[in-house]
Amino acid sequence: MMSYGYRADLSEGAIKCPLFLTSTFVFASAEEGKAFFELAYGLRKNKPGEEIGLIYSRLNNPDLEILEERLTLWDEAEAAAVFATGMAAISTTLLHVARPGDVILFSEPVYGGTDYLLKHVLPQYGIRTIGVAAETDPAGFAALLDDHEIGPRVALIYLETPANPTNALVDIAAIAALAAAHSHARKILVAVDNTFLGPLFQHPLEHGADLVLYSATKYLGGHSDLIAGVCLGRRELIGPLKATRTILGTMADPMTGWMLLRSLETLKMRMTAQMKNAARVAEWLIAQSKVERVYYLGHLAAGSPEQALFDRQCLGTGGMISFDIVGGEAEAFRFLNALKLFHMAVSLGGTESLVEHPATMTHSDVDPEERQEMGITDKMVRLSIGVEHYDDLIADLEQALAAV
Ligand SMILES: *Cc1c(COP(=O)(O)O)cnc(C)c1O
Repeated sequence: MMSYGYRADLSEGAIKCPLFLTSTFVFASAEEGKAFFELAYGLRKNKPGEEIGLIYSRLNNPDLEILEERLTLWDEAEAAAVFATGMAAISTTLLHVARPGDVILFSEPVYGGTDYLLKHVLPQYGIRTIGVAAETDPAGFAALLDDHEIGPRVALIYLETPANPTNALVDIAAIAALAAAHSHARKILVAVDNTFLGPLFQHPLEHGADLVLYSATKYLGGHSDLIAGVCLGRRELIGPLKATRTILGTMADPMTGWMLLRSLETLKMRMTAQMKNAARVAEWLIAQSKVERVYYLGHLAAGSPEQALFDRQCLGTGGMISFDIVGGEAEAFRFLNALKLFHMAVSLGGTESLVEHPATMTHSDVDPEERQEMGITDKMVRLSIGVEHYDDLIADLEQALAAV
């Protein structure tokens, strides 16, 4: 994370990768320009050792290229593509993979924007999308794949695990095995939104996923000062995805790439500190009489299928906690309005602790009935735990709960 992919001798000896604020790159000769475009547009194969040169910042830029190389490390991916936002990564990937007539299966709940993309945008392009409740048992997905109408048309299975905001887990390895067993003429791809635990505490590629997606706005960025997204996977998948990114124009800008390079250096320290803090906060929350239920990966029932799946799939409990307050929207709002140290804002994964009300904020664009079924009720509050001292966080929660 500190140096991979960067050579100081190519940048005047600068210890840090400079910010390449440039729209276009000068070709040394007309022949070079022609060669770069031939590779960039796939007009011929690379000669041995030949790499695509820098052309134009919608295709590539040093800050993005170095960032992409560095991002492959945690997930042990062959290649990465960085996008302007998490939604740009998700929408570009799904539009790249699916064609009219195809089916996308997805776990529910998913992030509100993804839910809207799947239920309201992709169907306008003739892509059928079917949600399956996030459960440790993959039977819901198996039934759809076995269906003679649906199964043969499935192009991609989209998972978000742990799910935002319920922390529900889906078995990546089991779904990947199902996808492989039902792949015939073309491979059914499995994509996992790894924003909540990755890239430190969960590595979906290791469990058989084909693509890993991130909102880099969250833990990867980590300072609540940028918006970006990432897709990682095999080179044969990411290469053509980057060609689609070039044409849709959904890449990140150089400044964002540079800021993410900075952020990655402290990713492990931040996520580790946030996870330790979250454990303290969750332990305190569960003992409060005004708290009905806590949704936290460190509190799964011993011996349950959830705990067994967590042990197989996850390397840490992360920094996200949701809980149901006793009451409903009125009680939740009184609590939110009384907090002083927690900032009331959507987003997550930053150094500062955040609090929000999923039903009326991040997930307000989900159909109300479906939202209820997914457990995103009016009494649910979501916390993103930062790097402050846990005593201060607990003191703030305590005084806010007392105000309810
Ligand atoms: C925030 C978020 C997204 C969307 O990312 P943006 O960077 O806001 O576009 C997608 N998935 C999850 C799980 C998220 O939390």
